[in-house]
Amino acid sequence: MVVNDLLIPGTSQWDVSLLEELFCGRDVEEITNSPLNPSGVDDIRVWHYDKKGKYMVKSSYRIARNFSEDDNRENSALWSKIWKLKLPPKIKHFVWRACTNCLPLRSNLSRRNIVVEPVCAFCRVEMETCWHVFVSCRYCRDCWREAGLNDFVEERAAAAESFTEFMDTGITDADHWLAAKLCAVMWSIWRQRNCEIWENSHTSAVVTVRVAAVVLSDWSISLGLGNAEFYNNTEEHSQRWKKPNFPYMKCNVDAAICQQRKLTGIGVVLRNDQGEFIVARTIYFPGIYAIREAEAISVREALSWLHDLGIRQVVVETDAKYVVDSLTSHEFGISEYDFVIQECRAFLQSEPEVSAKFVRRNANMVAHELAKGSFSFDSPSVWNFPPLCIVNLLSLDALD
Ligand SMILES: [Zn+2]
Repeated sequence: MVVNDLLIPGTSQWDVSLLEELFCGRDVEEITNSPLNPSGVDDIRVWHYDKKGKYMVKSSYRIARNFSEDDNRENSALWSKIWKLKLPPKIKHFVWRACTNCLPLRSNLSRRNIVVEPVCAFCRVEMETCWHVFVSCRYCRDCWREAGLNDFVEERAAAAESFTEFMDTGITDADHWLAAKLCAVMWSIWRQRNCEIWENSHTSAVVTVRVAAVVLSDWSISLGLGNAEFYNNTEEHSQRWKKPNFPYMKCNVDAAICQQRKLTGIGVVLRNDQGEFIVARTIYFPGIYAIREAEAISVREALSWLHDLGIRQVVVETDAKYVVDSLTSHEFGISEYDFVIQECRAFLQSEPEVSAKFVRRNANMVAHELAKGSFSFDSPSVWNFPPLCIVNLLSLDALD
């Protein structure tokens, strides 16, 4: 590919949609900021190592000495391996930049005298190097575990002497999908690293891996390559959030526990049949409830809130199967949990077009993250615009 391929044919304008396909956002910005010559003069070869652009043997000799031939040969072998992977082009470019240490890592920037604190954006302790961000940081290790790649990464990391060697053996040892998964998760970790730095937005490893899974599977389906087998436990992970059928809305709920502050939190998110965010609510209570009880309370809170809002046609989704089972059974217990269930049943009986449904955690990620984020807001809070911690997940869900 040459630069000319990135222009709209017959014009001297960048083909922005193609650029967006091939490069990440900030690179697209850099490229589109590069001026193009509108006068249409013919292309000429320019020796960019010389200020005047003129080629001289003396200068080429000097440059050749700086590049070791072995490096070049190894690099081109690695590049051809990366190029053959089943991956969106933007991820291949990213992996290549990581392998050649061309990412704008803080350690690289500070070496070039650009003033930044060279610490990792995730742990804020260690120096931000390729090795740290993608291999040794606690955050990426959580991601590898979530993606089921923990052992694979650890074994290669133990044997490799550099990040490039680690990637080279990783890509060589893995089959196509595994290598694609490795690279996609790495790309998503980098994407999240940029969110941490530029938007100060934090996301759990579960979400970061999920972003990689969705990007990879959407791309492979669009090319007719089939669904990328991303998770080992496919049943657990393959279910995705679905838009409700008009005129119904969908309300996802979940509960979370904060051990440190001894709080139980709840997240409730309401969306319409277009997958659009309508409103959300977070609330937390003092004390650590048993998880069964916390999940039942989250459903009750959602039902009572929907009732107050006057929303009569809605499906409430929880990832707590036992709560949905209890709601449909006719048993009466006398525990706290049973009392909460009874309250839920009363709401459901008074609203014939409100129902409660079980979904797997992956289809309930928005509520899951919001519940976990609830502790950082006032309690209770109502959100007419989505809080930052669920923005990415909402757009992933809306892709369906
Ligand atoms: Zn770190």
